[in-house]
This record gives sequence, structure tokens and C-alpha cells, in this order.
Amino acid sequence: MKLILLGAPGAGKGTVAKLLTAVDGSVQISTGDILRGAVNAGTDLGKEAQGYMNRGDLVPDSLIMGIMEDRLQEPDCEKGFLLDGFPRTIPQAEELKTLLAKLNIELDMAVEIDVPRDVILDRLCTRRTCANGDCQAIYNVKSNPPKVEGICDKCGSPAIQREDETEEAITHRLETYNEKTAPLIGFYKNEGLLMTVTATSSDDVIAAVKAKLSL
Ligand code: AMP
Repeated sequence: MKLILLGAPGAGKGTVAKLLTAVDGSVQISTGDILRGAVNAGTDLGKEAQGYMNRGDLVPDSLIMGIMEDRLQEPDCEKGFLLDGFPRTIPQAEELKTLLAKLNIELDMAVEIDVPRDVILDRLCTRRTCANGDCQAIYNVKSNPPKVEGICDKCGSPAIQREDETEEAITHRLETYNEKTAPLIGFYKNEGLLMTVTATSSDDVIAAVKAKLSL
């Protein structure tokens, strides 16, 4: 399947994307994970992106489009992909449309995961992420804690609160979402590609996607 996952930070895009990879071997492409990996590795991209990310601002479109143009042409995308956290702005969506046409790739749909704001705030404040850039497993201190507090079950690295998951940065990320990313819902509606799922359970989102694509 070839999907865009839309929704505010904390709506569950990453969790849904990981679950969907098991359905048909499509790959999850998370620009946030790619950028955090670059920050941890200390690459030029990471150095350029870090300040924006820590403040909860978006990284410039030009940096993101360079990453995506390369990533979408890697062989593992042939089975399908789940775009998680990209596009994030109307210019990114316009450029993605041009890029996909150039690569002769057709999207199935853009899935908007609609979750109430109080649930989102609670989730983001209690989320923990594995600090190992190659792992980045996600936990929640209330609903899905690691077996040993503060330690990733999968790789043994510290499971920490992200720098952009302080209350101040979260508030700013949600404002950025409303201003810059929410307009994509109208964009994909006009393209005839939008499916909105109002659900707080990832399993419900998966079921809706599978039903729509007859999987
Ligand atoms: P995420 O893990 O998707 O919440 O992304 C974390 C941070 O990475 C965001 O707050 C942005 O600073 C940056 N980022 C991720 N994806 C994008 C994107 N498509 N465009 C611009 N910035 C992005």
C-alpha cells in the first residue's frame, strides 16, 4: 500500500505505520525518525535540523524534500510505503505530487487520524522514546511502559523523554500543526484521496484502512 498518514503529533501515526508494515511488507518512512537519527549521528543534516526540532519548529522544506527524493527511490519502497510525518506543509505536498508523478508512483490514499486534543496532550507528555537512533522504539509510562523503567526492551538503551516533548515544545508543535499541517486535510480532500478515521485505538485505524483497501 502507498499511504500518507496525517494527524497531529501524538495522534498515533508512528504506531499505525509500524502495524501496517506487517500487513503487506510496506515500509514506514518517518521523517522525524530520519532527522533524529541524523542528529544522533552528528551528520551535517542533523546539525542543521537540531535547533528547529528542539524548539518544535518545522525543518525547512528544502532539507526534507532532499531526504524524501532519495528515500522514495530506494528498492524497499517498491512493495509500498507509509509516509509518517511527511508531508507537513502545503509546499511539501505540492512537491511530493510532482515527485510521485516523475517516479510514476500512485498513492492509494491519505489517512487522517483524528484524535481529541486532551488525549494527544496526555500521550505526548507520557511518551518515552528509545535514545538509540537505530531503534527509536516508543513507550508510554502509563499504557505501555518498558519492562525495566527507563530502559528500552528491544535494545537496552535509555528510553527517554524527547527534547521536543516538554510542555512548552509540545504546545508549540501543536500550534505549528494547526497552522502549517492541518491545511493538508483540505488539500488531499480536493485530490480525492482523503480518508478520515476518528479513533483513539490504533487497531481501529488499521481495521478501517484494511477495509477500505480490501486487504
Ligand atoms: P515527528 O517525530 O514527526 O513529530 O517530527 C519531529 C520533528 O522533526 C518535528 O517537530 C520537526 O521539527 C521535524 N520534522 C519531521 N518531519 C518533518 C517534515 N516533514 N517537515 C519539516 N519538519 C519535520
